[in-house]
Amino acid sequence: MLPWAVLWDMDGTLVDTAELHFSAWRECCARQGRDFTEADFQATFGRRNPEILRFLLGDHLTDQEVASLGEAKEQLYRAEARKTGIELLPGARNLLTSAREHGAFQAIGSSAPRANLDLILELTDIGQYLGTTVGMEDTSRGKPDPEVFLIGAQRLGVNPSRCVVMEDAVAGIQAASAGGMRSVAIRHVGHHPVEALQMAGATLVVECLSELNGPILAGLLNL
Ligand SMILES: [Mg+2]
Repeated sequence: MLPWAVLWDMDGTLVDTAELHFSAWRECCARQGRDFTEADFQATFGRRNPEILRFLLGDHLTDQEVASLGEAKEQLYRAEARKTGIELLPGARNLLTSAREHGAFQAIGSSAPRANLDLILELTDIGQYLGTTVGMEDTSRGKPDPEVFLIGAQRLGVNPSRCVVMEDAVAGIQAASAGGMRSVAIRHVGHHPVEALQMAGATLVVECLSELNGPILAGLLNL
């Protein structure tokens, strides 16, 4: 059988880090004299830091300022994550195991910075399932651009048409569609409307990862 792959979004799909990110952004904005609201969070979640910071603080920011503000925010986030710990979402470990047993190569394709990916791999011990992880530093365009998933597929040596993307966000599903990939939308964390996820091109929409297994994902590719 030709290789096939499962490409995982991380935040909101494998782990729920929303609270931690919200606190870190609020503190980061407070230091700049700006509020950070629930609406700001909704408007920016899942995007890369350079785009988020320019959205929050203005287009005038230099690349240097974006880099240092972004790093400060991520340090706040990682310190809090280490303190409180991070758990995989229900069904995640079983599905990683089942997909591997069914022959899938697996990767993470995330907007998160490398240090956050490494921290979550460390805290959840899922590195053993993954052939590669693609993060913020590996891409120049955020989702809904397909770049992050195309790089993941390329590194695994799997054709995009044989990849299933696991995503919680509309932009991530759009990225999968734009990359010529199948996708599963998981509503457990984000609670995005089913219609919005389907409009974005989701092949399948589920409430929880525990509804899935390796054969179901392979079936989405008609394997
Ligand atoms: Mg996500």
